[in-house]
This record gives sequence, C-alpha cells and structure tokens, in this order.
Amino acid sequence: MPIDIDSFLDTVARTVAESRTPVVDLIAVQTRDPFRILVATILSARTKDEVTAVAADKLFRVADTADKLARLAEAEIANLIYPVGFYRSKAGYLVRLPEALEKFGGRVPESIDDLVTLPGVGRKTANLVRSVAFGKPAICVDTHVHRIMNIWEYVDTDSPLKTEMALRRVLPERHWLRVNSLLVAFGQSICRPVSPHCDACPLLGRCPQRGVTPRKIMKKSAGDTRHPLRFISWNVNGIRAAAQKGFHGILTGFDADIIAIQETKAHPDQLPPELKNIDGYTSYWHSAERKGYSGVAIYSRLPPEQVITGIGIPEFDGEGRVLTLEFPTFYLINIYFPNSGEGLKRLDYKLRFNRELIDFAGRLNRDKALILCGDFNVAHKPIDLKNPAANVKNAGFTPEERAWMDSFIDAGFIDTFRMFNQQPEQYTWWSYRFNARTKNVGWRIDYFCVDQASRDKVRNAVILPEIMGSDHCPVQLDFSA
Ligand code: SF4
Repeated sequence: MPIDIDSFLDTVARTVAESRTPVVDLIAVQTRDPFRILVATILSARTKDEVTAVAADKLFRVADTADKLARLAEAEIANLIYPVGFYRSKAGYLVRLPEALEKFGGRVPESIDDLVTLPGVGRKTANLVRSVAFGKPAICVDTHVHRIMNIWEYVDTDSPLKTEMALRRVLPERHWLRVNSLLVAFGQSICRPVSPHCDACPLLGRCPQRGVTPRKIMKKSAGDTRHPLRFISWNVNGIRAAAQKGFHGILTGFDADIIAIQETKAHPDQLPPELKNIDGYTSYWHSAERKGYSGVAIYSRLPPEQVITGIGIPEFDGEGRVLTLEFPTFYLINIYFPNSGEGLKRLDYKLRFNRELIDFAGRLNRDKALILCGDFNVAHKPIDLKNPAANVKNAGFTPEERAWMDSFIDAGFIDTFRMFNQQPEQYTWWSYRFNARTKNVGWRIDYFCVDQASRDKVRNAVILPEIMGSDHCPVQLDFSA
C-alpha cells in the first residue's frame, strides 16, 4: 500500500524539530543572502554540516560578497575553506564564480537553467539555492532524499535525477520547499545511510523499509534503563594543526559525553584557552616530555573520581601515551600506542609497552568495567587494511604486533566495532600520500575495546570516516554505563 506522504513528512518534521538545522538553511535564516547561500551550498557538498559551517564562517569573514571574493586568489580560498571535502576543486569553482555572475548583473540568478551555468553548481545545488534562497518551487534531491523516498517506496528510481523527476510528478507542491531540509536532518539523525536507527524511528511499522538493514541493538541487561553514554576517540595528529581545520566545531558537533584525543603533540601551556576550555567539558592532559611529540587528552562532561596519568613506568610515561579517568562504574583508558617505526626500530619498545598496558588494564579491571580506546597502531586482521599481503613486514601489521592483538583479545577484551560490522574496507587511517583517503586505501587501527563482562553494555560502535581534520578519522562507542 502506498505511504501517506503528508503523514510521513509531518511525523518527520516533529521528529527533527529538536535536531540541528542543516547548515544551508541556517545561513538562509541568518542572512537571507542568495550569494552566501549559494557559496555555502557549494561548500556543503560531501561535507559534514559542522565542517561546512566553520569553513563558510571563515570565508565570509573575508569575502561575503562576489566583489570581495573576486579579490582572493585560488590558494587563499582553498586555505580558508579547508578541510571541506574536495576543497581544492571547490576553491577553483569559487575563484571563477564572480566572473560567472557578471552575466547576471553580479547577482545570483533564480532559474535552474541559469544556476547550472555557474561553476560547481549542478542540479542538486541549483534546486537547493532556488528553494532556500528564493523560496521558489524546486525539489532539491540529494542522497538523503533519494535514498529515503526509495526506502519508503514513494518512488522507485536508481538515481537522484530520476527521483527528482518522479517527485515532480507525485509529490504535492506544498512539500517541495521543505522536503530537502526535513529529510537531510532525518537522514543524518534517524534514517542514517548505514544502519538506520529504525528502533528509534516513529515510522517503524508504517515504513516499507525497502532494502534496509537496521542497526543492531544489543539486549539491555536487567534493570539497565539508563541512556547510553557516547564516547569518541580520535587521533588528531597534532591538536594545533587540527585547530586550523575546524577541530573546535567538530568536537562540539559530536555531542559526546567523553572525547579521547591522541597525538596532541602539544603541552596544554602551548595551547590557546579555547582549545582547553570547551563549553560543557573539562579537559585532562598527559603530554610527552619532548615537546611537539605524542601526548593524549580527554574532554569529559562527567566529573571523574580519579585521573591517572601513565601506567607507572617512566620509560613509557615520559612519552605521554596513556591517560585514565575513573568514574563510579567504569574506567576509561585513552591510549596512544607506539608506532614500530621505520625498519621496525621500535618494535621491541612497542611490544614491551603493549605487555605492560595489558597488565595495567587487568589491574584496573578487577573492580570496575573497562573501556580502552585510542590509536592502537596495529591492524588486527587482513580485513582491517587494504593491502595485507604487501604489509606483513611493515609497522602496524607485523606478525608480532598482530600476535599481541590476539593475546589482548584472548585476555578477554572485545573489539566493539566488529560486534556490529563484519564488512571489509572499514578504515580509520589513510596515508596523506597517493590520494589514499579518496581511494579508501586505508587501515583500521583505532579501536574502542571493552572487557568481556561489559559486552551487554555496548549499544553501538561505528567509524566516522566523513570527519576530516586528521589522517585518522574518529571512532564512536555508545555504552550503557
Ligand atoms: S523505519 Fe527505518 S528505514 Fe524506515 S524511515 Fe525509519 S529509520 Fe528509515
């Protein structure tokens, strides 16, 4: 039976009312300026809203009109909008934009046919600009709209363009303007592209769920009715460098209870206050003696009972690799494991560190649940990297490092990501060279692990590959403490 689209969209509207407004709509509400809406829409392609918002803000501080944009060189624009996806291509589009607008008297045109003549503007962008900036009837079909309309069996199409054409025929015009922002917000929060949260969706039971594999929810243990805590772990490869790429906005966008950071490469006294004092969080630091090297930090909304720096062994603690927070029912250990290095020069050091770390974790695990997270600097199985055969003698995939990871799992620790996802090509680190991230030639070396007794408390574990700002992406754990 066909769905009742009025009722479905009204339900979605009520569901997303509390969620964040898509960044382009936000800019529209704040500015009502077609130029800024157009630029923000170009920036937003294949980029998280938090990242787009930071980049748009940086750019508009310098160039909020076509005239001012015309005064910037392409490299300056690229620098301002980094790290939005495809920032170099987008800088190329933006540097040509003022000249392209001249044939429309320097103003952003309203019609789809005119808009698609502008650099970087395809049909989707044109529809979005026409509807958001000018309030004209247009259906902006992005991947969320295309995907969800097919899940609902409201259309039966295999491309966003065909979905747009089908919706023009069947979707009542009163929904055209709102359908994009509703389904983008819904697609980002509930009906996600991977493992949609059907268990939390008010449309469950009415939705045809065509082609959907909902997320798995682990059965709650008896009496456990608490809201799960959200943890993030991220090797930022230098917190000062990450700050230039929108770290602050990304971090607050996680809306997580605890955020564990590795490879800070800075002492807290080298950092500006805005990186140490983030609204709602208290930060804790364990830095290496050597400046600019290693280091871990934790931002926490929850007050810990105890903070433990290091593992009590000077040889390792001088490198600022382990920071533990103790809470009433669990310990969180944030770890930056050593890299075995070029020529495996530090393999022995790493293996000694690893053994001591298991002992340290085992001691803590006697009285409370244990969550270990961080950059483990090892891909455990062949499925965890793109080219296993070529890397058996390389740091991070040697038999010795993998054997240690086996012993870690044998000691009772669980790789939470693999509780939910058995797919290949799920990576958390990509070399900066050879365009590896774009080609998804990567390694999964960042983990959230828990002790065996905590298995039932794990609600979800995912990788967040769309978050840029480092050569690693963050990983996330939802856990009922
Ligand atoms: S029930 Fe699942 S598939 Fe259907 S709209 Fe909700 S989240 Fe999406």
